[in-house]
Amino acid sequence: MESNPILVTAAGGQSGRRQVVARKTAFSHKRTLALPKEVECANHQPKGDEMKTLLKMVFAAAAALLITGSSLARAQEIPEGFFLPPINPTGATLVTQELSPGVYALLSDKPPVDNSGFVVGKRGVLVIDAHINGEMAGKIQQAVRAVTDKPILYLVNTNFHGDHTFGNYAFPAETQIIAHRKTAERMARFEEEKVLMLAIVGEAAVIADVELRLPDILFDDHLTVDLGGRVVEIYHFGHGNTPGDTVVYVSEAKAAWTGNLVLGEGLIPFLIEGDAGAYLETIARFARTLEIETIIPGHGLVAGQAVLGRDLAYLSGLIDSVRKAVARGATLEETLAALPLEKSYLPAPDSPLTGPVTGIHAWNVRKTYLDLTTD
Ligand SMILES: [Zn+2]
Repeated sequence: MESNPILVTAAGGQSGRRQVVARKTAFSHKRTLALPKEVECANHQPKGDEMKTLLKMVFAAAAALLITGSSLARAQEIPEGFFLPPINPTGATLVTQELSPGVYALLSDKPPVDNSGFVVGKRGVLVIDAHINGEMAGKIQQAVRAVTDKPILYLVNTNFHGDHTFGNYAFPAETQIIAHRKTAERMARFEEEKVLMLAIVGEAAVIADVELRLPDILFDDHLTVDLGGRVVEIYHFGHGNTPGDTVVYVSEAKAAWTGNLVLGEGLIPFLIEGDAGAYLETIARFARTLEIETIIPGHGLVAGQAVLGRDLAYLSGLIDSVRKAVARGATLEETLAALPLEKSYLPAPDSPLTGPVTGIHAWNVRKTYLDLTTD
């Protein structure tokens, strides 16, 4: 028997899908980079002005590193009301929820701290997202071990951000890591990502032990993984929150893990990089390709298929309202003031997501205004 027959192309399956492009990378598994000195002091939860200062420093650092010329560099002035979503996992628990036989969501009890998940077949297990450090990656593996002793054969990174990839190094050496080609490229910019992650979690200890471990298997459009009696489909529908946004889908459960692409109930699309139009097209492609009952987002609350329509409406409304503001000559400040987040997109008033979602909207308005007014 061929020892590595796991990757199956979708060509013989449903029509219209493109061939899988998967290959082993020449990346080495372990490479440690030091954090710049100026950010090592942030060993506590920053508040208010302190956070603003830290944010400015981080965006300046990001701009000075490798993002020059991109949207993030242009968006380094932070709109009023924006703060980075609180995803420090300290004290968070991952709660296992079985979606269908062998298919599990791992839901953080501290949203928007990252969710995860895993799928069990006869041959072994596939895990979705590695979380932010070795401790959280250990919690994922404990959850797997609570239901099966089969090996963890695969780990999928849904995007390059540290909260989805920094736990990679804590998975067994035999676990093969799968990612979109652009995700793998961005993961190599480890130093830059550590700076951003440190600003978000505000506590150096959270990522102090992290080592870079890059993916083993890259894909471009679509990859099918047969775990033995259970098939997992992996898709890239285009640029949304990040260039390599990846959706992991199990058809028998009609369940999709969406990483940062769809942030679920209580949150809205976040234009960290890339514009609203591209994001809208990506979600539309996702919505018309897969039959969905359950969405396990990277951060928010579990959602149904309807959240895709809501996200599409949000993005088209954002583009339309900002375009009208630009057309009538409104300044950025006037546009931000005129376009608060519509009430229908707000979570329950007592939700921990209310602050983040309001800030994300302000960011999106600013980003869209800049995209429409600068080359
Ligand atoms: Zn994320």
